[in-house]
Parts: sequence; C-alpha cells; structure tokens
Amino acid sequence: MLKDEKAVVVFSGGQDSTTCLFWAKQTFKDVIAVTFDYGQRHDAEINVAKEIAAHLDVPHHILNMGLLNQLAPSALTRTDIAIEEREGEPPSTFVEGRNLLFVSFAAILGKQFDARHIVTGVCETDFSGYPDCRDSFVKSLNVTLNLSMDYEFVIHTPLMWLDKKETWALADQLGAFAYVCENTLTCYNGVKGSGCGECPACKLRQNGLDQYLEQKGGNV
Ligand SMILES: [Zn+2]
Repeated sequence: MLKDEKAVVVFSGGQDSTTCLFWAKQTFKDVIAVTFDYGQRHDAEINVAKEIAAHLDVPHHILNMGLLNQLAPSALTRTDIAIEEREGEPPSTFVEGRNLLFVSFAAILGKQFDARHIVTGVCETDFSGYPDCRDSFVKSLNVTLNLSMDYEFVIHTPLMWLDKKETWALADQLGAFAYVCENTLTCYNGVKGSGCGECPACKLRQNGLDQYLEQKGGNV
C-alpha cells in the first residue's frame, strides 16, 4: 500500500508542485521535497519553496543545478532573454531536458532515502511545447531509471491529464485551495500569490482559477 511508502516530490514552490506536495502528503506515509536551484530569475522562488516545505513539515533538499543554466540558457534563468511565445516552437522559457534531469536527480536522491516513489507536476494537457512533459516521455524515463539503478521506481504525475481549472479543483479537494492561492509562486516576475497579472504564467493561472470559481459558483 502507498500509505506505507515514501515519496520524493519535485518541488518548485509553484501552484502545480505545491498541489502535488499536498497530494503526496495525503497519499504516502513519508514525503520529502527536492528543489533545484538553477539560477532562476528570482531567488524568491527558492525562498517560497523553503517556506512551504517548512509549513508542511516536509524535509526539504535544495540541490544546486547551476550547470543547467550553463548548458541551456533560457528566459527562466536569464534576465537578458525576454519571455515570449513563439509560433511553432517551444516558448523562450523552455529549458532543454529540464524534467529529464530533475526527475533523474530526484530518483537518485530518493533511492538514498528508500523513497521509490517520485512525484512530479508535469502535465500534458496544457502542453506548452515542452516535450519532456509528455506522458510517453515520463513512462519511458521510468523504465530507464529502473534499469539504471536496478530499483522499482514509480513516477507519479497526478496532474498529467488535468487542465489548470482541474488542478485548482484538486487543490480544493485536498483542502489546500486557499493555501495554494496565497502562498505559491507561479509568476515569471517573482510575485507570490496572484502574481503580476501580466506574464504568461500569471494569465494561465488566473484563467484556470476564474474557470474553477465560475464552475464552483454554479454548483453551489
Ligand atoms: Zn506574473
């Protein structure tokens, strides 16, 4: 039973991974969180992740992944690259291979702590051109990790088939709606909670929230 097992959550302090952290806490006996510091535009992201992990009483590991910025400069890590949507190609916030690396490192860390379950908030539904968010990729990586370390990892992707509205609904089911609204950081401009309201991440988050509240209002 999952209730007897231990999981490691790939955790950024954003809406999606915080919802996953609440989900993991409800699903597994023990949970640890891992955050990757790869020179994000804003230190705020790391600080928010620390605050949330402390609030949820989850052991938190912060791993230095500065090499990712050396390998793949992108708008998420470099203030001299503008955040923009580009027709027919991944957005400028794309960091090549990010989920491949994050999930792999989470698995290596997890094995040290006897945690064979890995939870990640990747999602194919609002697939923004990130190939390593796809379900087929995650399944393939799961097999590779098991072979590479001779261990029975299970990668969990509770958000894989949810849209943003449904992710808010999941947070609500987990009793975490208000907490996720107020304490997570999704905004590319480093503004916690409802964010700057202008960047693509804020617009996506607000759009989903509006849709969820509208649906919820209609059901009351
Ligand atoms: Zn924003």
